[in-house]
Amino acid sequence: MFSVVNPATEDVIAEVPRTPVEQVDEIIAAARAAFPGWRDVAPGDRARLLRRFAELVDTNVEELAALEVRNSGHTISNARWEAGNVRDVLHFYAGAPERLHGMQIPVAGGVDITFKEPLGVVGVIVPWNFPMPIAGWGFAPALAAGNTVVLKPAELTPLTAMRLGELALEAGIPPGVFTVVTGQGSVVGERLVTHPDVRKIVFTGSTEVGTALMAKCAPQVKRVTLELGGKSANIVFADADLEKAAATAPYGVFDNAGQDCCARSRILVQASVFDRFMQLLEPAVAAVRVEDPARDTAEMGPLISAAHRDSVRAYVPEDAPVAFRGHAPEGPGYWFAPTVLAPVAPGTPAFTEEIFGPVVAVTPFEDEADAVRLANATDYGLSGSIWTRDLGRAFRVARAYESGNLSVNSHSSVRYWTPFGGYKRSGLGRELGPDALDAFTETKNVFIDTEE
Ligand code: NAD
Repeated sequence: MFSVVNPATEDVIAEVPRTPVEQVDEIIAAARAAFPGWRDVAPGDRARLLRRFAELVDTNVEELAALEVRNSGHTISNARWEAGNVRDVLHFYAGAPERLHGMQIPVAGGVDITFKEPLGVVGVIVPWNFPMPIAGWGFAPALAAGNTVVLKPAELTPLTAMRLGELALEAGIPPGVFTVVTGQGSVVGERLVTHPDVRKIVFTGSTEVGTALMAKCAPQVKRVTLELGGKSANIVFADADLEKAAATAPYGVFDNAGQDCCARSRILVQASVFDRFMQLLEPAVAAVRVEDPARDTAEMGPLISAAHRDSVRAYVPEDAPVAFRGHAPEGPGYWFAPTVLAPVAPGTPAFTEEIFGPVVAVTPFEDEADAVRLANATDYGLSGSIWTRDLGRAFRVARAYESGNLSVNSHSSVRYWTPFGGYKRSGLGRELGPDALDAFTETKNVFIDTEE
């Protein structure tokens, strides 16, 4: 067993099993045994079961959200959105079983058709920062395509995943089709990766673990989707609506206490408006409400653990160029005040490394070419924002920035019906959107000779 802790109070709130490897093997065997039956469920019936699952999630949004507040320290408004996102993603992919279209390709002397066939058992490995949505982005399309799923939540945040597993059974999804297994990454996660009956891994987490995992999938040519780290730039040009850019910048990076792979953790500001932007940013940062995440007014909660807070703190040493900070509660809980570092030199750790906490680096740039060069000067390429009133420039920069998810004059990046994923070391493959099913199916080509 391991203890699950409320990061806002440091209280132990649950004890959760560390599943031993033999039991993981049994769960994988059950998922494999359940596969042919699930694959053969009529498309309309599979769709109905997924919709029923979605409706049960909807009925339980408040319960799931409250659980996430306690387990992850997410603000209640974020946690409600996250549970609602699982519902919506299930509804979206419930439309898929009846739309897994193949093609008919013109050929001489016969008929050529393609089928989209499920892979088998899919392992979904989830990090602690968004336990519900990231799980749903994996399991909903995987199940819709006819695969069975074994889901491993992060050690620190297993509670909502466990509840989702119960809701799936309650919805009538047969045992073995969707199983949640708790435990250590090095045991349970590792076994999903090495077990030959697991045909695909969907991994979201650190670039370090994801890179090692990809190598371990190679001997079996195991399919893999990776969603890894980020160091996204929020690029503010002199012609932008500076008031709006500054007012929204804190939420682009401090949402979920900065524990967001899409956090705009570098703000690149055109030098001619740098001072003005910083004047506008300071009150916006001071206004971020960091408090008990269960309160409706909370905008930011604590970090996930003491160890993670130490790792974030290491990026703000005594001599760090702290421009200003917001506030955070005193007392128990892993609190860390929003922190703005400026000016941060390109190439330094605060500029290139994912801090995964409420720390933002602000750096000036000269012109458009300089902005693009700096935006691309990291190994990551997940997200980013571009603030300008010049539409031509917005498109030029969006095309030149090597990153998977960009927004212009906003910080939105994840919609379940649009594709999501990273360039460079931020990942491999795409989740969500119309094409996610390709990641959970093989294309089979069949030629039928019609000659006499
Ligand atoms: P992590 O890599 O430490 O762990 C992620 C998951 O992998 C956990 O469930 C863990 O138990 C498991 N794991 C650990 N070692 C394993 C192994 N050897 N084999 C198999 N599984 C193993 O990441 P984390 O600290 O939980 O999450 C934070 C990271 O996730 C950040 O880098 C963040 O950017 C990234 N992230 C990326 C996205 C995205 O979509 N690109 C989204 C959210 C988080």
